[in-house]
Amino acid sequence: MNIPKCVCKENRAPTAAIPSDCVCSAVAGPMNVHKMPMEGFKVPAVPLRPLATKTNTNDTQEQSSTSSELKKEDKKKSWMLTDFELGRPLGKGKFGNVYLAREKESHYVVALKVLFKSQIQDAEIEHQVRREVEIQCRLRHPNILRMYGYFHDEKRIYLILEYAKHGALYHLLKQCKRFDEKTAASYVRDLAKALLYCHSKKVIHRDIKPENLLIGHKMELKMADFGWSVHSPSSRRMTLCGTLDYLSPEMVEGKPHNYAVDIWSLGVLCYELLVGMPPFDAIDSHQTYKKIRYVIIKYPAFISEKAKDLMGKLLVVNPEQRMPLANVLQHPWIVENAPEGSHPPANNSHPPANNPRHQ
Ligand code: AMP
Repeated sequence: MNIPKCVCKENRAPTAAIPSDCVCSAVAGPMNVHKMPMEGFKVPAVPLRPLATKTNTNDTQEQSSTSSELKKEDKKKSWMLTDFELGRPLGKGKFGNVYLAREKESHYVVALKVLFKSQIQDAEIEHQVRREVEIQCRLRHPNILRMYGYFHDEKRIYLILEYAKHGALYHLLKQCKRFDEKTAASYVRDLAKALLYCHSKKVIHRDIKPENLLIGHKMELKMADFGWSVHSPSSRRMTLCGTLDYLSPEMVEGKPHNYAVDIWSLGVLCYELLVGMPPFDAIDSHQTYKKIRYVIIKYPAFISEKAKDLMGKLLVVNPEQRMPLANVLQHPWIVENAPEGSHPPANNSHPPANNPRHQ
């Protein structure tokens, strides 16, 4: 195992706690006079004020991401916290908190992710945040969470994100234990589309897992968290941070890797959505490495043959032999369970009676 471990805690812990260091009170507090390393945080060629479209003030609004949202005269202005009315906390991440917010002028509802510079500095992940911003701001796809822009003050960095009404897929999965095949197929289809688009832009996500996938108002999947993503080609080795469950055999072995790592993770996700736990789950990380390397998978009896066929074609040791993403969209399990345009109903889960993890 050649992947160095980082100091972060395993990141599958629940994230529902309401933050004590709320940005609303922090704004009025004393300003940090230290010169922070994010001072030169720049995202070239990305419009700074892309939210000019007036919409209603409802949380559930459908927001378009068309060119009408950009006002030419606004290009030079940068955002600041006073441009937004802050609403309820949406969640807590490792390096900051996410709030519902509304841009005052347009009433456009967004999610404002607030990251603390000191924590980013301490964890030495400035480059990751920079990469996340640079990559996510440029991607435009219905299954990829939009990042509209960013701004910062002495202590914090604020990422202006598309608001995903149904939150993290991880939390939905925890509530439902596991999904029925139609629901799972719909999320797999959406993720395959998002990955096809990313790969066409030479971006490898490298950190696909339910925690990094959000669900929009139509129950459509939105890929987020590009902190580990890279522009390909790259044979970089990555620091291991968080769950091992989604790592491909080539990553576990510290080998150079390419787009195919995301295809592997798609197979892992498909299994976790259907079963309620990842396929290579084991009592310790050594056992998980072994299961990944030798692709040791047990399918519960309730999984259909077609679903098994798809997972078997994604979870292949040789990256070259994994099913191409375009073929995933044509696979009979996807075509039958998630025809184009279909979305899972809200609160659609399968009763967990057959799930050993939840008995
Ligand atoms: P993160 O720091 O990105 O891990 O986000 C922490 C939590 O905030 C997630 O688990 C979600 O529940 C919530 N969250 C993050 N981003 C959004 C968003 N754009 N829309 C809605 N909820 C979000």
